[in-house]
Amino acid sequence: MDFDLGEQAATLRTRLRALIATAIPEDYLGAFTNDPADLDVAQQFCQRLAHEGLLTIAWPTRYGGGGGSMWDQTVVREEMWAHHEPRGAQYMGLNWVGPAIMAYGTEAQKQQHLSAIAAGTVIWCQGFSEPDAGSDLASLTTRASVDGDGYRISGQKIWTSYAGMAQWCVLAARVGSGERHEGITMFLLPMDAPGITVRPIRSMLGYHHLNEVFFDDVAVGPDAVLGGVGEGWAVIRQALAHERVGIARYARCERLLSALGAALAPHWHDLPASLQGQWAKALVQVRVARLLAYRTVHAQATGEVPDVLASSARIAVTQCDQAVAEVLCQAVEERALEAGPTAPLYGAIEDHWRYAQAATVASGTIEVQRMIVAKALLGPRA
Ligand SMILES: Cc1cc2nc3c(=O)[nH]c(=O)nc-3n(C[C@H](O)[C@H](O)[C@H](O)COP(=O)(O)OP(=O)(O)OC[C@H]3O[C@@H](n4cnc5c(N)ncnc54)[C@H](O)[C@@H]3O)c2cc1C
Repeated sequence: MDFDLGEQAATLRTRLRALIATAIPEDYLGAFTNDPADLDVAQQFCQRLAHEGLLTIAWPTRYGGGGGSMWDQTVVREEMWAHHEPRGAQYMGLNWVGPAIMAYGTEAQKQQHLSAIAAGTVIWCQGFSEPDAGSDLASLTTRASVDGDGYRISGQKIWTSYAGMAQWCVLAARVGSGERHEGITMFLLPMDAPGITVRPIRSMLGYHHLNEVFFDDVAVGPDAVLGGVGEGWAVIRQALAHERVGIARYARCERLLSALGAALAPHWHDLPASLQGQWAKALVQVRVARLLAYRTVHAQATGEVPDVLASSARIAVTQCDQAVAEVLCQAVEERALEAGPTAPLYGAIEDHWRYAQAATVASGTIEVQRMIVAKALLGPRA
């Protein structure tokens, strides 16, 4: 299988790698560590990417983008994820929040939000999951009651990534008496609105990643609705399809496998043959995940938002994530505790392993992805 995306992509990759090498510390493990400086690095890097026309490279120029293709966007996303996502939480804004606003927003919403995302100055969070509505998202109970010409929102969200650092939230809430999918409406909500409380959830992803968010009679105007009252399900489907293919962790898997292969080269033949075999098998899984991601990108490039393809790609990416995490840890063993020149690589492996455990839950569990694929193949009664 030839994964060569051509000369333009190669030039873009080289440019991105040079930028990362100058702006991102070698031992960087993303924006969500306990060191606030790591978030600052991400924020400054996003503005640098924006300044160079790379942050929203595939957005239309009228929205502050670079007018490039989905393949340009794919190269950017691969290089970012391969290097521990130095865009931090902002990857969500350009990956799915912006496209959702482009597809469903009013002209005023586009004017207000798209240029801020393209400038790399704003962090968004996704308020979908609730304590009793995760896989079955259509059962969500956060309610937006009509109040004059606006709404008052009350309820609770959970597992909200980046809520503590976000300025805006795309929130799913229920308006009126419509049940299940029919009542769901999306809101664009400033996180500093009175009545919003964010409580961090400590987890193995660190203190700054996951959160509970409480909404206590939060007042919003009619202009906060994205995509029409009761029409939120379509927005969610589009958002999740973009999200699921936008997390190119296969690129990180391949980089770590190859970096570890190089670091262990002197001991390679001392490794058990079974482990060498697992290493090769994991690399095959990485390539399969990449191929499925490319199929989705190809469809997106023609204007489709194929949630079945996105789910197939997501299944493959999360499985390769976990397979690679296991191989890396087994190969490194106690050497992970050693200081010295390999310490940044071993730190990256440890970080990769922790995040890989959550991969088959985040953005919809692997069982849910499989159901989406099964229903598409076998029909809704599958
Ligand atoms: C790292 C991380 C980041 C996240 N970030 C966000 C975020 O930013 N915003 C947000 O809104 N949410 C976020 N989530 C939440 C995530 O979307 C949910 O955790 C996920 O959808 C599963 O929901 P749940 O936790 O309620 O599990 P449940 O839905 O209770 O599922 C529990 C188990 O039952 C299985 N299951 C459930 N229903 C079925 C079924 N019908 N058939 C077969 N198996 C089933 C599931 O697959 C799972 O294994 C995040 C989660 C993680 C781990």
